[in-house]
Amino acid sequence: MADFSIHTLGCGSAKPTLRHRPSSTVVDFRNNLFMVDCGEGAQLAMMKARLKFQRLSNIFLTHLHGDHVLGLPGLISTLDLHGEGGEITIHTFKEGEDILRPILKAFAGYTSFDVKFNILNPQGGEIAFENHALTVETVKLTHRVPAIGYIFREKPKPHHLKRDMCDFHGVPMYMFNRIKGGEDFIKPDGTVIPNSILTSDPGAPLSYAHISDTAFNPDIAEKIGPVDLLFHETTYLEKDLPLAAPRGHSTARQAAEIARRAGAGWLLTGHYSSRYRDDEEFRREALEVFPNVILNREGLITSIPELRK
Ligand SMILES: [Zn+2]
Ligand SMILES: [Zn+2]
Repeated sequence: MADFSIHTLGCGSAKPTLRHRPSSTVVDFRNNLFMVDCGEGAQLAMMKARLKFQRLSNIFLTHLHGDHVLGLPGLISTLDLHGEGGEITIHTFKEGEDILRPILKAFAGYTSFDVKFNILNPQGGEIAFENHALTVETVKLTHRVPAIGYIFREKPKPHHLKRDMCDFHGVPMYMFNRIKGGEDFIKPDGTVIPNSILTSDPGAPLSYAHISDTAFNPDIAEKIGPVDLLFHETTYLEKDLPLAAPRGHSTARQAAEIARRAGAGWLLTGHYSSRYRDDEEFRREALEVFPNVILNREGLITSIPELRK
């Protein structure tokens, strides 16, 4: 399995249907799982996708609508039942902590592990999470309630060492880490061996933006920039355009327009309104504006490295 992939657990919108589950996505980054939104049924969808609960340590909420959070009490209760200790961090606004803390305490108790809250600014523009290999950045959305999207950006990877070339040029072992970091090698006689001879390019860092729920807003395109994969909600089709902005949602065409303006590699659709029967219509409409469209569905796994090939 790729080391950066997106698992779609639910890509429906607020009104339940038998075709789609409410919003939930899991980002699998080098075997660490990051959940974005936790609609009802997310824990069952995780089990179906064979994603291990033990690998989940961060849950990022985009906003406090029920179709994005109502799976949390069940999921947290299950984690508690596992009784394996550890902790989970829920990233949300202050209001989210105020609402969720007593609910989770009442239903999960979490005696065996710790639930932490990382309080985020609804204005976006901050780093919600960071480790040695990844940052998760927030971006303000345009919805009926405060809402943010998340951008997962891999940090630049070290160069791959070409051992045969290092040996040939007499690079001592203690220099290897510096060479991986991009330094040239200077021989004792002053000859410079350029880094490009000693290493191979690890490729540009990979990135994923998760944008749900929002009305069309070109500022978002500017903020996310040319990510490899953009999930952007496609609640409506253009024939229902008058409904989109007042309800804080976008059409498939508008999502494709954001992907085009951002210079994204691929667009992933989703948050489909229950009023439509044929999901293919979302793809068809988006393709009129943007060439690389992936039609989302429950159980879909999108490998980001594969999209570069
Ligand atoms: Zn929603
Ligand atoms: Zn919403």
